[in-house]
Amino acid sequence: MKERIEAIIQRINCSEADAARIRDAFETADAAHKSQLRSSGEPYIIHPLAVAEILSELGLDPDTIIAGLLHDIIEDTEFSYQQVRQRFGTSVADMVEGVTKLTRMDFSSAEEEEAENIRKMFLAMARDIRVIIIKLTDRLHNMRTLMYRPPHKQRNKALETMQIYAPIAHRLGMNSVKVELEDLSIMYLDPVGYEEIQEYLEKNNQEGRAMLNRIMARMKERLAEHEIEATVSGRVKHTYGIYRKVYMNGRDIDQVYDIYAMRVIVDTIPQCYNVLGIVHELYHPIPGRFKDYIYTPKPNMYQSLHTTVVGRSGQPFEVQIRTKEMHKMAEYGIAAHWKYKHNITKNGDEALFAWVRRFIENQQETDNEEFISDLRVELFADELFVFTPKGDVINLPANATPIDFAYAIHSAVGNRMVGAKVNNKIVPLDSKLTNGDIIEVLTSNSARGPSRDWLTIAKTGEARNKIKQWFKKERREENIQLGRAEFEAELRRNLLARAFENEEFRANILKKLDFQNLEDLYAAMGYGGITVRKVINRIADEHTRQEKQARGLARPMRETKPTSGVIVEGIDNCLVKFARCCTPIPGDHIIGFITKGYGVSVHRSDCPNIAGMLTDPATQDRMIRVSWASAPSELYQTALQVIGRNRIGILADVATAISDMNIQMSSVSARANGGDESIIDLVINLRNAEQLGSVLLRLKRIDGVSDVTRVVR
Ligand code: MN
Repeated sequence: MKERIEAIIQRINCSEADAARIRDAFETADAAHKSQLRSSGEPYIIHPLAVAEILSELGLDPDTIIAGLLHDIIEDTEFSYQQVRQRFGTSVADMVEGVTKLTRMDFSSAEEEEAENIRKMFLAMARDIRVIIIKLTDRLHNMRTLMYRPPHKQRNKALETMQIYAPIAHRLGMNSVKVELEDLSIMYLDPVGYEEIQEYLEKNNQEGRAMLNRIMARMKERLAEHEIEATVSGRVKHTYGIYRKVYMNGRDIDQVYDIYAMRVIVDTIPQCYNVLGIVHELYHPIPGRFKDYIYTPKPNMYQSLHTTVVGRSGQPFEVQIRTKEMHKMAEYGIAAHWKYKHNITKNGDEALFAWVRRFIENQQETDNEEFISDLRVELFADELFVFTPKGDVINLPANATPIDFAYAIHSAVGNRMVGAKVNNKIVPLDSKLTNGDIIEVLTSNSARGPSRDWLTIAKTGEARNKIKQWFKKERREENIQLGRAEFEAELRRNLLARAFENEEFRANILKKLDFQNLEDLYAAMGYGGITVRKVINRIADEHTRQEKQARGLARPMRETKPTSGVIVEGIDNCLVKFARCCTPIPGDHIIGFITKGYGVSVHRSDCPNIAGMLTDPATQDRMIRVSWASAPSELYQTALQVIGRNRIGILADVATAISDMNIQMSSVSARANGGDESIIDLVINLRNAEQLGSVLLRLKRIDGVSDVTRVVR
């Protein structure tokens, strides 16, 4: 076994200090597992040693090799996290702990629809992608030695491998691991089908081999004529790949095109396409079977050209053409990051899958830890996977809290919640959960129910709805009070209190909103069943409609058009002026202010000057509702500011654009803004907001203009 450790050290070519740590890790693991045996009867250390071997073949770094040797030590021996950390450092200890966490989970009973969630969680909860790689190699070795386990264990493990581990290997682009996991799994899951394919392959083995050799020889010859240096190899597709086509897609085994596959590996991308041409010259391509994964890589960053051609004997076979770099990625996937870190170049043309390329390019500036945490974030940024104490997985959005968790279990759990434990520690209810947390909801039958704050703490709609439901049922009196207070304040703020005092008007609104009585409406606003804003808008609309109707009735013959284009509530022929601070135009939402000297001044309702006046008791009573007349025909002044590059002629272009649109301009001025920006202030006369929209669009298209805004002073 000592020789095997030395072979590992040689293979990864590490420093003498790291070599010493690896030897130490082996001794430590060997001593700790001393009394344990594998199901095969061999000493337990065989297993971690094999895991470390596979990791070294994948080219992982010394820390990962060490963690691989120690990966079962926390779970299966007296060793603690602290002990591992003291001896081998935090990075190793964290990895071993991460593997332990994943080991403690039992996924074997997962339903198919749950599998994707578990796969995601699996990836998300490992803080370090190397933990996943260790776990995959751990599983690979366990699958290689599965014959020593009892039959029901074999089936469970094989199913779990097929559903969880092989897809994860695929997702990380680790093809060699994926293929082996699949073949080992199907051997246990469908021994009869597996045998059938094996037999077929064996029966045709000689013939197939001979064919592959003939084709290889021809291709090599032709490539040499074209002076292309290439590695050509032939192989039989892996068993599960054929199995899937035969048993799942219902194809006859003789019709499976790619039982035999040739692989041509060259140096450059142009050579890939050259080789493709040569292959198509030599053999007849099957239409519709060409795929360019160089131009469009697969999501797991796989790149290659694929084509299927027919050999001389009539036997179709697949040809895969790729560069050396692509080949490394295809075999090792994410692990290639460690294995070939130094060889991955920034060749502009290489369309590696975006995130991998980005991370690899950033590699010079960031250290490994950062690479790993970035990668994790990239994979599942907005999902969170946590556990019940029994080990069920609950999927929540990022930033979810114990409240979301409790209501995701059941509304009765949420409603009786008095506290929560995360990983055995009591935490505040608004704490953010993290992947892999185990959450225990503390409930009490005498709990007073959710608090209203929970509505703002909860992140999921589900939790909020359930909390609202509770308030609806349990707290009617409180809801009525709360809803009423908020509603009345808002009513005053919108100058609608007087209108709502009218009994007929009120009855009308209740009917429109579908409430039996005022108390029900208050209660609904209290528990959040309807928003106060929605009710107020309804009242405002109804009020405006009645106002207009009243005017219509009063002047059935001819409406004297208000000269300003603005109707002031309850006042006819009122003097109106437009506020200079926000220069409203028809289409803007507006509000009036009764001035001391000159009638009513009209502001945009989002004008910052209005906000202050609405809350100031000295002015709030002087606010008054105003609205635009149906079709004001006058022009309204409004102020705009154009920001652009300080170039000769920009002012002229702005002025020309305005006059091209037949729009009057009252004033225009330009100034330089210190640097190379120029600011143009203009006042123009417009009919309405629609016209303003097209002016803004037109001005923004002028060369050098970066922004156009309405001015509020
Ligand atoms: Mn293990």
